[in-house]
Amino acid sequence: MASADVVIVGGGANGASVAFHLAVLGVRNVRLLERRHLGAGATGKSGALVRMHYTNEAESRLAFESLKTFRDFATVVGGDCGFEPVGFVQLVPRGYEHALSQNVETQRRIGIETRVVSKNELAELLPDCDLGDVGGAAWEPDSGFADPNATTFAFADAARRLGVAIETGCEVTRVLARGGRVGGVETARGRVDAPVVVLAPGAWAGSLLAPLGLDFGLRPHRIQVAVFRWPHGFTLRHPAVIDAVHHSWLRPEGEAATLIGVELGAGHADPDAYDEGVDAAYVALCRKTLATRFPAFGEATMRGGWAGMIMMSPDGRPIIDEIPSVRGLYAMLGDSGTSFKTSPAIGKCLAEWIVHGRPRTADLGPFRSTRFAEGRPWHDPTNYGAERLTISR
Ligand SMILES: Cc1cc2nc3c(=O)[nH]c(=O)nc-3n(C[C@H](O)[C@H](O)[C@H](O)COP(=O)(O)OP(=O)(O)OC[C@H]3O[C@@H](n4cnc5c(N)ncnc54)[C@H](O)[C@@H]3O)c2cc1C
Repeated sequence: MASADVVIVGGGANGASVAFHLAVLGVRNVRLLERRHLGAGATGKSGALVRMHYTNEAESRLAFESLKTFRDFATVVGGDCGFEPVGFVQLVPRGYEHALSQNVETQRRIGIETRVVSKNELAELLPDCDLGDVGGAAWEPDSGFADPNATTFAFADAARRLGVAIETGCEVTRVLARGGRVGGVETARGRVDAPVVVLAPGAWAGSLLAPLGLDFGLRPHRIQVAVFRWPHGFTLRHPAVIDAVHHSWLRPEGEAATLIGVELGAGHADPDAYDEGVDAAYVALCRKTLATRFPAFGEATMRGGWAGMIMMSPDGRPIIDEIPSVRGLYAMLGDSGTSFKTSPAIGKCLAEWIVHGRPRTADLGPFRSTRFAEGRPWHDPTNYGAERLTISR
């Protein structure tokens, strides 16, 4: 039988970030257990947009705290997270201009570099783009995208250097709890006793939560993306874009291609038996949506695509909490397809909570697990007309 001060379940961006930040805070006997390999879950498939624009302050704060890490990754963590600050544009439909201004105002108050741009400025940021149906747009010059695998590997490498044990190919089969306290985990390789367990198992959370009597209404979803080679004459290394008019997002991929994701609606799937490829119908939808903005992409060559599994929470926002009914059990659950960019801050906050008794970097109250039982699921009054989208971004 082994023991640890903290066991972390899951080697995605969030589990690796927790491991790194615990080690930085001086916790030495930390074990991260990953059933497959680092980045095997949503992280490895992520579009990895790094943008600050949300329709609520709490997520913008997590994203902004995380941006500080992405921007200065070699110094803060070590290694390279592949961050590319190509800038970010948020497009909203007509009728939502006021909500956009309010959100941008909130973000500026936090310290985020962002502003609403005029139609003329937008046309300069996105030349050759058809913007006729856009109501308003916001611009973030410091945002962009990162390499999700590189980020995770770098967090893990830095954690290892600080003494964290990272075991891959090690599945946690059960969380041990007694008398309202966590006691460790059972794994395929034996038991590990620990007074603190952090769950970051992505779409695979269900089998660990159910035996504890925990049901937060989480549902695994299969999410797809497609890549299109830039058509003849298209050379613009464009910014990352979230398009709330067409429920899609895009960013450059490699030297001469664009990666796009489009909302598909409910797409429940078994995370242990899902198709990792992209569907032909989805490719057609992506090409059509891309061409709606950039007409030149109407005949663009498809160059690939893939699918990954995310875990949706009932209100489309993550749960980040110490589970009240099982003391010592901390969790990052229901990533809802948006929790790569926030992983640096999520890991830091959870580590602070474990070590100092409360998160210091950001307020995690809005992410509490009890909000559903309280009948107060998350709602943003300044949203852009559609919440709980299953599109990842
Ligand atoms: C196609 C796609 C595009 C996306 N685009 C964006 C984006 O642009 N921006 C953004 O911020 N987010 C995006 N996301 C979402 C983002 O990738 C996820 O929210 C984030 O990576 C979740 O990280 P995680 O560490 O919480 O979970 P995961 O990366 O899913 O990691 C969970 C890990 O836990 C392991 N595990 C599970 N159960 C066990 C067990 N019992 N024992 C041991 N190990 C276990 C799994 O094998 C897995 O490696 C996207 C996701 C997808 C799929």
